[in-house]
Amino acid sequence: MALNIPLITNTLKNCLPSRNFIALHEPRFAGHEWEYVKECIDTGWVSSVGKFVDRFEQQLAEFTNINHAIATVNGTAALHICLLLAGVQTDDEVLTPALTFIASTNAIAYCRAIPHFIDSTDRTLGVDPISLADYLAEIVQIKQGISYNRQTQRPIRALLVMHTFGHPVELDPLLELCQRYHLILIEDAAEGLGSYYQGQHVGHHGKLSALSFNGNKVITTGGGGAILTQDASLAKQAKHLTTTAKLPHAWRFDHDQLGYNYRLPNINAALGCAQLEQLPTFLEAKRQLAQRYQQAFATISGVRVIQEPIETISNYWLNALLLEPAYADQQTALLTETNQQGIMTRPCWTLQHKLPMYQACPRMPLPVAESLEARLINIPSSQGLMFD
Ligand SMILES: *Cc1c(COP(=O)(O)O)cnc(C)c1O
Repeated sequence: MALNIPLITNTLKNCLPSRNFIALHEPRFAGHEWEYVKECIDTGWVSSVGKFVDRFEQQLAEFTNINHAIATVNGTAALHICLLLAGVQTDDEVLTPALTFIASTNAIAYCRAIPHFIDSTDRTLGVDPISLADYLAEIVQIKQGISYNRQTQRPIRALLVMHTFGHPVELDPLLELCQRYHLILIEDAAEGLGSYYQGQHVGHHGKLSALSFNGNKVITTGGGGAILTQDASLAKQAKHLTTTAKLPHAWRFDHDQLGYNYRLPNINAALGCAQLEQLPTFLEAKRQLAQRYQQAFATISGVRVIQEPIETISNYWLNALLLEPAYADQQTALLTETNQQGIMTRPCWTLQHKLPMYQACPRMPLPVAESLEARLINIPSSQGLMFD
């Protein structure tokens, strides 16, 4: 039996406001954005420092219940600093999912380290602790408290997990694996603001975690990101590294190490403060939209809507349809039809090991990631859709 593509397209349409075009994800500015940005311009505090940066960092720490938040110019920069502070060095390997956005992989390469791709599970769309445990048992040799890849002889330093579309990965078993293999856990929580694993906001398990406030994320600062950590000393170093490693002084320009200009401008932080005030409303809208999709597709065969994993609360940043394996060959046809009808849909990212710069990287067998890549279709998920 063929997949009923007209029926699926109509079902999507019935969940959405009637417009000629529905974007995959749009920002919503319905709060104090104008007021706060105007204040930056009126006072001249638009750039490297200002009260909105401090306020945004404080409010992020409060919302996530993580001790420290350091705002950055984007999420990729946040990830880069997380990896550096985790001690990732040249020629280290970092375990990371093949199914992720390129930012996670690039951040590893910026450290001159080597991404080592691992498989996902369809329970969460993120790293699978079960297949990873088997794989590590096979390839790792532990010497003096460091895990080495037997094949390459390189140290495996860290595990960088990612909460796909806001659905938290299985953090407890993954942290346990990290402890067993002396790996540092880092969370790419770029998509996970407002997502909870066993009652705790994502970002708690990682030694360091990264958020993104790009234009398509749950809240936006235009471009922006943040580093989260419980550790005061790491937080201090993160601030230092993201502000050119400049030593505080009234007039001298002294820098004590290789630093980065990764700070978030005050004018972007002003947007962030206004957006954070609306985050609970955004999350509620996203949950309602996800429920609407789930109910609408409950009776449609061949396809299902991805739901939050057990013991988690997802922010439902991006909703996704998953075709049954038998219909994987219909993915392109469904993408074509929905986009032609003005409903923006997208496949997930091309798996990282297929990209030219990462083809030679080590990897485990990736059957689940390959299957998800062939069957996933992201569907419109803007919070604004619920306010029409
Ligand atoms: C958005 C995103 C990032 C960070 O992207 P920036 O555009 O640099 O803020 C990182 N990882 C994932 C998985 C993302 O979706």
